[in-house]
Parts: sequence; structure tokens; C-alpha cells
Amino acid sequence: MIDLHTHTNKSDGTDSPRELINKAISLGMSVIGVTDHDTTSGWAQAIESLRSNLTLALGSEISCLTKDGVSVHMLGLLFDGAHEEMQIMLEETRDGRLPRMRKMIEKMQHAGIDISMEDVHNALPDGATLGRPHLADALVNKGIIKSRDEAFQGMLNNDSEFYVSHAAPTPEDAIGVIRRAGGVAVIAHPFASLRGKILVPSDFHTLVDAGLHGIEVDHRDQNPDERAMLRAIAHDLDLVITGASDYHGSGKLNSLGEYGTSPEQWEKLEAQSNSRRVVRL
Ligand code: AMP
Ligand code: ZN
Ligand code: FE
Ligand code: FE
Repeated sequence: MIDLHTHTNKSDGTDSPRELINKAISLGMSVIGVTDHDTTSGWAQAIESLRSNLTLALGSEISCLTKDGVSVHMLGLLFDGAHEEMQIMLEETRDGRLPRMRKMIEKMQHAGIDISMEDVHNALPDGATLGRPHLADALVNKGIIKSRDEAFQGMLNNDSEFYVSHAAPTPEDAIGVIRRAGGVAVIAHPFASLRGKILVPSDFHTLVDAGLHGIEVDHRDQNPDERAMLRAIAHDLDLVITGASDYHGSGKLNSLGEYGTSPEQWEKLEAQSNSRRVVRL
């Protein structure tokens, strides 16, 4: 099994990188992508925890916003983690998440909800990229809601009155940085329509011009019709087709390895980074 998109407690997953790697090994997986939101801070522990013949594809899921305000997640894989422009881009996005969280909390307080920045910090693991799931956890801890899932179906949904976006690069800019850092760019769950506004098929041409390498087709948030459309777009544009779990530990229903990428597609993707950057023993 090749699963190229997972999260740890360095962002909004609940497993440490070590726990994630241990699970991947016990499932007998062959390749795992570690792709926390807007950070590479889980890489070192993932590498340390490596045993047996599991291969690591290190990366990050970069939060992007199009000029039209559509939220896009771009997976960067196999890039040079020490690349300065990349680290600056990731840091700027992380920095933008703090004022955004303050604004969301202010809106909630105005509506009479008993929640504070301190509550969110108490729910945030050390060094993790701050996100709405941590606000959801804080609301759960206070007994205001029951689960992250409930939060995303209501108060924390993109359509909610409390939603605020944060500063983020455009998908084209993110692809440019991923490429300059030597990596490959795969757009994550582009037709996950339950999350809010999504791209239209013609948008993919601009992304290909910017250097996109692949499309995440098999993902639980895309239905069979959406996957079929994406598969057709990938064929037309000669893009790599991936599938992945987007595992978040107990933070989401997604189970590790529930979707995967074929060995042929993985080989095609891996060959396009500027040096052989997978990690294996
Ligand atoms: P943010 O990046 O702060 O806007 O938060 C978005 C994150 O929330 C995404 O990375 C998702 O993985 C996570 N998310 C979205 N929907 C859900 C859900 N229903 N349950 C748990 N996490 C979710
Ligand atoms: Zn997430
Ligand atoms: Fe995502
Ligand atoms: Fe993700």
C-alpha cells in the first residue's frame, strides 16, 4: 500500500509521527507520505522512527487560496526541507493562522459562545500548525459540541458565520516554490465539494502551466462521479493519479491506507523530483 497523504500532531492529526510510522509498519505499507499542514516539523521524528522496509515520502500539505477565494490544498512531496523560500512560505502561512483564529474566536464571543484563545492553546499540541480542528477540540473540551465532525458540519464549516480565511499563497505560487525546492506538486482532493467552493475543470490548465505533477483522485471526500471527472482530467493533461487516506488519527474517520496510489503512478511521480529524496533504511 502506498498512502501519500497523512497528518500527525505536528498539525491537526492526533498521532505523533512515531505512532504514525509504527502504524504504517504494522499495516505492512510500502510507502507513506507525511504531509502535515504548512510545516515540515514532523519529518525528523518520522525519519528517526523508521524501521523495516517502509519508504518515507516526506512533504507538506500547503494551504492555498485562489484569486477568487477558493481554498485549495497543494501537496508538496520530496522537496528539499532546507529550502529557504519553501520554509519562508510555510512560516508565513502558519503566522497568518493566529490572527485568523483570533477573529474566529471574537465572532464566536460576540455570539455569546464561551470560548477563548487560551482554550484553543490548551487544545493545541506543542509545535503544531494551528487550525480549525484545534478550535473544534477546545469547543469539545468545554462541552459546547460533541466532536470535530459536528463542528465542521456547523459552526466551523466554510459557510458558517464564524468562518474566516487566512493569508495563503495561490496554488500557482505554491507549485512554483515546491518545484524550486526540487519536489513534486499534487493537488489534494480538488473536488471535495462538501468543504465549500471548489475549482472548475478549466482551472487545471493554469495549474499545469505552473508545473502541477499530479491529482489526488481517490479520496473519501470525492464521490464516484467526481473521481471519474478528475481521472479524465488527469488523462487529458498527462498528470499522475494518486489516491490517499488523508489520515488524521482519531481526529477524523479516515483510516490509514483506506485509499492508495498504484506502484506505476508512484514511480512516475517520484521520478519527477530533482533528486532521489525518498527515505528508507
Ligand atoms: P483549517 O486549515 O484551519 O482551515 O482547517 C481545515 C482542516 O480541518 C482540514 O485540514 C481538514 O483536515 C480538517 N477537517 C475538515 N473537515 C473535518 C471534519 N469533518 N472532521 C475533522 N477535521 C476536519
Ligand atoms: Zn487537516
Ligand atoms: Fe486537505
Ligand atoms: Fe490533509
